Amino acid sequence: MLTDTFNRIHDYLRISLTDKCNLRCTYCNPVDLPKGYFSQANKMSVDEIDTIAGTFVQLGINKIRLTGGEPLVRKDAKEIIRRLSKYPVELVITTNGVFVHEFLETFQNAGIRSVNVSLDTLKRERNALITGRNEFDRVLQNISLLLKNNFQVKINTVIMKGTNEDEVPGFVEWTKDQPIQVRFIEFMPFDGNRWSKEKVFSQDEMLQLISQRFDFIKQKDERHDTTKKYKVPGHKGTFAIISAMSRPFCSGCNRLRLTTDGKMKNCLFSKTEVDILGALRKGSDIVPLIQQCVWDKKEIQGGQFGTTYKNLDSSKISNRSMINIGG
Ligand code: SAM
Repeated sequence: MLTDTFNRIHDYLRISLTDKCNLRCTYCNPVDLPKGYFSQANKMSVDEIDTIAGTFVQLGINKIRLTGGEPLVRKDAKEIIRRLSKYPVELVITTNGVFVHEFLETFQNAGIRSVNVSLDTLKRERNALITGRNEFDRVLQNISLLLKNNFQVKINTVIMKGTNEDEVPGFVEWTKDQPIQVRFIEFMPFDGNRWSKEKVFSQDEMLQLISQRFDFIKQKDERHDTTKKYKVPGHKGTFAIISAMSRPFCSGCNRLRLTTDGKMKNCLFSKTEVDILGALRKGSDIVPLIQQCVWDKKEIQGGQFGTTYKNLDSSKISNRSMINIGG
């Protein structure tokens, strides 16, 4: 069992398959970093992902999320999904949805039942502005395809003031006829993403805006949930808020991360990383490294944030970009 000094048990691993993405969302894929920042040289191979994941499973991991970059742009993504499906874990994936139609059978055969799809706007032109690509119709079609095939679908929606905060009620309206969960994510700071506190649209602001149009009730949250769930009575779906900035949820955190170059992060905001892939390639035992990394986990937000995001100087945070960590 992987326990840290705050008695948090870690049983959920997020593996980044690649730091490449077919979309260009600037809040994730940095605008300010030099070319060549994303090196593919040290990417974990299929065998290495399999071995490292297997070690984590032996240590008590029971849920694995594949992410990226965009996990489905990796050429051997199907093979990786097939390989990981042999482990006794809940296997899930976060994707921008563009290639989902090519993976439906792979997901089904691997026992993937839940897919998180990122979509920040319900307006075609705005989607092109945010993502730098014209994939809006394809993503909507693939969300329908997933629902038709009985997948549990969660929509990840990053809300940024001045960009899309006006769409919060529209997304809640979407849950009326669709059995989806829309998850509004507060905008977080990462390397090169031009974060500022003025762009954060907080949980309180979201709930206030939603309440102008809908009555809603609080749903029960599970211990490890990053989301606070709500439902408009009569709606088929639900909505939720990931209040990473205004109300961090670190006390119930059970998550660990593995970047595509095989570095382990014990928190999305951790300053330090442990080189699991390097150790594996040298033939060293990676178990003590994994255990030590969990043991070193800080209590809140990688120890890098103060008490409120309103005083945060994002230039002082030492971290990778989101696309390079694996969200
Ligand atoms: N490409 C996949 C996708 O689009 O879902 C997986 C990787 S992406 C990094 C995972 C999630 O992180 C997405 O839902 C994305 O919206 C979210 N994300 C990226 N940058 C973020 C930021 N600065 N603040 C909040 N969420 C962010």
